[in-house]
Amino acid sequence: MKPNLRLLAATAAVAVVTATLPPAAAQDAPPAALRAGAATSVITPPLGEPIVGGFTPFPAEHIHDELHARCLVLDDGETKIALVVCDLLGLHRSVALAAREHIERELSIPRSHVMVSGTHTHSATVALGPNPRVFADEIELSDYERFVARRIADGVRRAVNLLRPAEIAFGHVDAPEHVFNRRWFLKEGTMPENPFGRSDEKVKMNPGAGNPNLVEPAGPTDPRVSFFVLREPGGDFISLFSAYSLHYVGGVGRAHVSADYFGYYSKAIERQLGREGQDPPVVAMMANGTSGDINNINFLEPRPRKEPYEQMKHVAHDVAEKVGSALEGLEWSSEVSLDARYRELDVKWRHIPEELLEWARQTEANAPRIGDKSVLPLSYAGRVQRLAQATPETKLPVQALRIGDICIATTPCETFAETGLEFRERSPFEKSFVVELANGYYGYMPTPRHFELGGYETWPGTNNLEPEASVKVMDALLEMAAELKAAAE
Ligand SMILES: [Zn+2]
Repeated sequence: MKPNLRLLAATAAVAVVTATLPPAAAQDAPPAALRAGAATSVITPPLGEPIVGGFTPFPAEHIHDELHARCLVLDDGETKIALVVCDLLGLHRSVALAAREHIERELSIPRSHVMVSGTHTHSATVALGPNPRVFADEIELSDYERFVARRIADGVRRAVNLLRPAEIAFGHVDAPEHVFNRRWFLKEGTMPENPFGRSDEKVKMNPGAGNPNLVEPAGPTDPRVSFFVLREPGGDFISLFSAYSLHYVGGVGRAHVSADYFGYYSKAIERQLGREGQDPPVVAMMANGTSGDINNINFLEPRPRKEPYEQMKHVAHDVAEKVGSALEGLEWSSEVSLDARYRELDVKWRHIPEELLEWARQTEANAPRIGDKSVLPLSYAGRVQRLAQATPETKLPVQALRIGDICIATTPCETFAETGLEFRERSPFEKSFVVELANGYYGYMPTPRHFELGGYETWPGTNNLEPEASVKVMDALLEMAAELKAAAE
């Protein structure tokens, strides 16, 4: 069954206006206690599906560990919120929307109150549309994408079935040793040529571990793991939701499907919190924070060779242990209200100047003569031309969710660490954090200053949005957070 795309478009247009729930009818009832339920849906693709983390996709030959949509539903008696974290590189807006529409229709949780994000595991198949470099807000879903949307909705439904009285606690812990800014200033005269044939950029992404030409990183890291945990009052754990600003770890077996460190971490937390034979089991999840410019490579030292999965296990287990040890002494509460805001912003697709378009045409025309060296330029030549044809404005989904005094803000981009740090600093909620790659996928979103510096994340086709996008997103997130704050008082 194919979703009616026109209908999707029409309903999405309505959602451009801030979607909020009318105040519920239970005026005289005492505040209901919090309930929570959690479940996981397997979303592993069939073997043979393309693995999409790198530049050129290749068919999956082995499933190392199953991929999941990890689902958590919270209910304060009047309002429900659903949080879903999927083992995917990301989800196209249409895929997330299809899932959110199922949930709205079947479970009466408004789509504004549903967050669907991707972890950014690079060893999953594509849920970004027929070509992730096609720049459109709406696409027709593939069989796998329809399957993912269905499995997300089923997971949320099962979490609803499992709703039970709960108490919640918020915490955070720093894990600075696993996060490194991957954008570096290099010594004068050592910048290699970019795919556009220029070597006047100031910053290089992934300059190579132990590179003698490194000067300093071009931005900060965010070492914080933010989390909240739910348990039956005084009893079994239900779920732990966390976010950490680490792109992914990688180092999987050849042509393997894997959930990367996000999967190992979740299992480790579930082992720590779960009771032997516990039914229903604990569900842990690790959303991606703001890691567009952050990875797991310490560039100051040469990188030692490791066995497949060795490094991701190390990171996952260490972060899980840190989170586990931060659980002691948390403050628990069960009288918690919920609220959410969702908007779609009119952000412009990146403008392609005529001379760049001309470069793209020339590059394509000359490709056969250049041979192997033309792979990267040719890839960007295609992206640049498709970007030039995109409708002027996107419908960029942003969201803010309030769980008691916790605020989660979301972006649909590979968001820079400094954006996450800024939101935490400026949010009216002390307990705030950002989840990226939520409700859509729109490429990298550097802050404006990075466009002066250059590098991979700023190239047209890697970055698909206007340079002011991160400012517009920040304004919208802060505005929604302020609304949530005002509505709660
Ligand atoms: Zn990425």
